[in-house]
Amino acid sequence: MSQPEIPFQSPVVPNMVDGSKVIQFQCRKGISCWNQCCSNIDISLTPYDILRLKRRLGISSTVFLDQYTVPYEMEKEGIAGVKFKPIEKGTACRFMQPEGCGVYEDRPTACRYYPVGLLSMRKQDEYVDRDAYALVEEDHCKGHQEPRQISIDDYRQEQGLPEYDELARGWRQLVLKKKSSGPSVGAPSVKSRQLFFMACYDIDTFRSFATSENFTKLFKITEEEKATFANTDLESEVALMQFAFRFLRQVLFGEMSITLEEEAAKERLEKVKAKRLQEEREAAEKLAQAEDNEAPFEDD
Ligand code: SF4
Ligand code: SF4
Repeated sequence: MSQPEIPFQSPVVPNMVDGSKVIQFQCRKGISCWNQCCSNIDISLTPYDILRLKRRLGISSTVFLDQYTVPYEMEKEGIAGVKFKPIEKGTACRFMQPEGCGVYEDRPTACRYYPVGLLSMRKQDEYVDRDAYALVEEDHCKGHQEPRQISIDDYRQEQGLPEYDELARGWRQLVLKKKSSGPSVGAPSVKSRQLFFMACYDIDTFRSFATSENFTKLFKITEEEKATFANTDLESEVALMQFAFRFLRQVLFGEMSITLEEEAAKERLEKVKAKRLQEEREAAEKLAQAEDNEAPFEDD
């Protein structure tokens, strides 16, 4: 099962269609290709996929990421993504069972979409993404020969995708914005990559971070938000995830999406200025030293 979710790195642009496109497809138990799509996987996960799966398994996001996923780079310039780790020495999904998907109610977005691919579209400098789709026809999948016609919009409803797409929207916008600002801004620093990874995918670590003393000294967090972040029910974790996207818009793109505590912001600005001055001083000293060392040769 492959996932052409954001195919800008592919030289082949698939045919794009909109949600009204009617497709012929049905997947059903008893079909001759049962489970073949889950036997050879390449599945990228959204933050909401991870949230649902870690809750389903009753483990923290940190443990989930460690045991069930591998990180990858979505772009050469290093936008962190997360994929399912297949079974040991194999290509099958760890959740595949003879009777079907072992996490069906919480299966990821890519599994729900198959055989439709979501192509997120975004015009340069536009902050709104539009959705377009592509149909993936793989030889092994016999679902295309089943006599059912359904529009992509209805298929998305059937697969519970409106909720999944809505809750991944903030993350998709971050990825698209980062891609479109890519080479002109340069490769992101290790620290910003780590922040992106933690805030997008490791919600339990982000919770500790967002409720830490240092964080709440710098960012204005309401009492209601604090109470929400401390809860671990689904609704609260979704709110925390969306706050994480807001946080990343602020730290990666300089948007004022979270109000800063005035004193702490001033203090931080002073520290940054002092650090920059110190770096400039050191660079000037090095330059002067290098010129001193070269001077005798110039006189010769
Ligand atoms: S999560 Fe379920 S549907 Fe998706 S690849 Fe694994 S077994 Fe298949
Ligand atoms: S019809 Fe396609 S999606 Fe369904 S089990 Fe077969 S290969 Fe997988």
